[in-house]
Amino acid sequence: NTPLQEEDSEIYALIEQEKYRQFSGLELIASENFTSQAVMEANGSALTNKYSEGLPGARYYGGNEYIDQVENLCRKRALTAFHLDAEKWGVNVQPYSGSTANFAALTALIQPQDRLMGLDLPSGGHLTHGYQTAKKKISSSSIYFQSMPYQVDQTTGYIDYDRLEENAALFRPKLLICGASAYPREWDYARLRKVADQHGAYLMADIAHISGLVASKEAANPFEFCDVVTTTTHKTLRGPRAGLIFFRRDKGDDLEGRVNQAVFPSCQGGPHNNTIAAIAVALKQVATPEFKQYAIQVRANAKTLAKTLRNYGYKMATDGTENHLILWDLKPQKLTGSKVERICEIVDITINKNSIAGDKSAVTPGGVRLGTAALTSRSFKEEDMVKVGEFLHRTVQIASDVQTKCGSKMMKDFVAALEGNQDIAQLKKEV
Ligand code: PLP
Repeated sequence: NTPLQEEDSEIYALIEQEKYRQFSGLELIASENFTSQAVMEANGSALTNKYSEGLPGARYYGGNEYIDQVENLCRKRALTAFHLDAEKWGVNVQPYSGSTANFAALTALIQPQDRLMGLDLPSGGHLTHGYQTAKKKISSSSIYFQSMPYQVDQTTGYIDYDRLEENAALFRPKLLICGASAYPREWDYARLRKVADQHGAYLMADIAHISGLVASKEAANPFEFCDVVTTTTHKTLRGPRAGLIFFRRDKGDDLEGRVNQAVFPSCQGGPHNNTIAAIAVALKQVATPEFKQYAIQVRANAKTLAKTLRNYGYKMATDGTENHLILWDLKPQKLTGSKVERICEIVDITINKNSIAGDKSAVTPGGVRLGTAALTSRSFKEEDMVKVGEFLHRTVQIASDVQTKCGSKMMKDFVAALEGNQDIAQLKKEV
């Protein structure tokens, strides 16, 4: 049992460097967070050694006395954290990630080649909600099912529910998916339920991004209207990397059996018990008053950051945010998200480029996505976000100057022109 540092100094050093990177810079990627020491201990525990295909009490392997207790505790805590009645809702805590949770949910709910509708990726939706381009089916959710995505209104940035309803009447989906990776506004679950009911479709919400806000009642409640709710556990929920699938037990068409069967044996093998233990720890934290305060602060920080950037004259998709993320439209500055992402990276601010409604290319999109979940975990408050906003403003000013001076829109010329820039060196020091 040699410690990692001695056993493998290369990997040890890289982990240490990554740890330093995470805490020395400003982490603004909307899908990331800093999980607690307790969650990481459970995640790195001896539970990783155990096979336990099946469900508690019905395993295909012996020796699961304690693993069963861990999984049962995790399921119980998941229902408690989301204020769900065990008579009406159940949960499968075995999905390895959000993507596998979503594919298992589709496998449970519809048949191969059935029709589904989800928010289009360039509108802020996720790959697994049926993403395809005009030329190619990209996600397995569009390869194995027929997909007709819905969009946001290109002028307002809000979901175009009227058009969604019209298209649903033509397409007659069997499954309607709501939820997103880059949508700063609240969802109208009641309206989506109505559309689903018009076509006898299931309604599924993927709350991966906002699950910490939903659990804290800082976002609308999808459980009131949906048949199935999926989530990742590592974004605003602040747990380890994994997924959950909640299903209604009172609907009368055995969603419980279908979801459990879809996760194992249809889509996965043995559960990652170390991760399930870590989810359980995170869910215990989620059910505390401290986590409620955290969720309130995540939203307040996002609002302040959006307001700060707007005060500098910038444009935000939908003119602001109601949750943890901001979509910043850089087209008025004639900059691509890629260039701003690059300068931010040099000065230790981590963000990601993101499409803004109407963009032609997802590779060089016209905006960036910012999220406040991780910095709020580091106790950042509103006044800190004003400073973060100032740093971001200076980044964009540098990007504009460099682009003007180098006289080219090409990324490689732009990167070459960044060499030795004194403003960048100064900004990096201050960050
Ligand atoms: N669903 C949504 C809405 C997401 O934003 C993401 C990831 O960013 C996923 C699913 C996929 O999660 P994972 O990366 O864990 O597969």
